[in-house]
Amino acid sequence: YRHGEASEVVVDTPEGPVVFGEHHPLVVVAGPCSVENEEMIVETARRVKAAGARFLRGGAYKPRTSPYAFQGHGESALELLAKAREVTGVGIITEVMDAADLDKIVEVADVVQVGARNMQNFSLLKKVGAQPKPVLLKRGMAATIEDWLMAAEYILAAGNANVILCERGIRTFDRQYTRNTLDLSVVPVLRKLTHLPIMIDPSHGTGWSEFVPSMAMAAIAAGCDSLMIEVHPNPAKALSDGPQSLTPDRFDHLMQELAVIGKAV
Ligand code: PEP
Ligand code: MN
Repeated sequence: YRHGEASEVVVDTPEGPVVFGEHHPLVVVAGPCSVENEEMIVETARRVKAAGARFLRGGAYKPRTSPYAFQGHGESALELLAKAREVTGVGIITEVMDAADLDKIVEVADVVQVGARNMQNFSLLKKVGAQPKPVLLKRGMAATIEDWLMAAEYILAAGNANVILCERGIRTFDRQYTRNTLDLSVVPVLRKLTHLPIMIDPSHGTGWSEFVPSMAMAAIAAGCDSLMIEVHPNPAKALSDGPQSLTPDRFDHLMQELAVIGKAV
């Protein structure tokens, strides 16, 4: 069980430090699944920031089920994230899939994301633990809470104390109406077991944009510290995860709804 106070994960962004933690305001991370081109990423960054998000998320390297699906634009997408950061002042969160890309990701990202599929890639965990940027560790889709916390422990043991845990839904038996089953019970359970900040991702957690707002509100009611929401300027044309992405207008509206229900945004 947890001993002592909740940790604060302090992230430096162009507009100053942002703190993730139990005793701090909710931190919202928003943006497209994939970085597609300059116009869409800069536009999305502007819109989500104006709505109150502190971080832009967007994948340069995408872990796709099919090798024939869009794999992300790689290094050129990192440059576009750097541009969005420079133009708007939002912090950047992007995923590392291969340790060989870590150095160039660390140059651009304010937080390095380890995705669900790599949650138990122990050599990658050791490497992200040995670099200085905070790490967002998503729960594996079939990971127990113990598996997840031990994965976080790999990062901590390698010397990086700044780990944020992100629930993004687990595999159960229904894939017809929901992509995953968002396990909101992790919020009180993790609170008891760990001092690390807790993020909830209702976008991957449900797979459908129409279900995202209610689960975002439920996550706040459960007591999470942060939310990750996929937002795309034209979800119907998205190169990945369009069905679960909110439009910027819908995201803006959701942020206003969230502000009403507590833990100030
Ligand atoms: C993502 O954040 O776009 C992503 C691929 O998430 P996950 O690893 O949770 O599937
Ligand atoms: Mn996605």
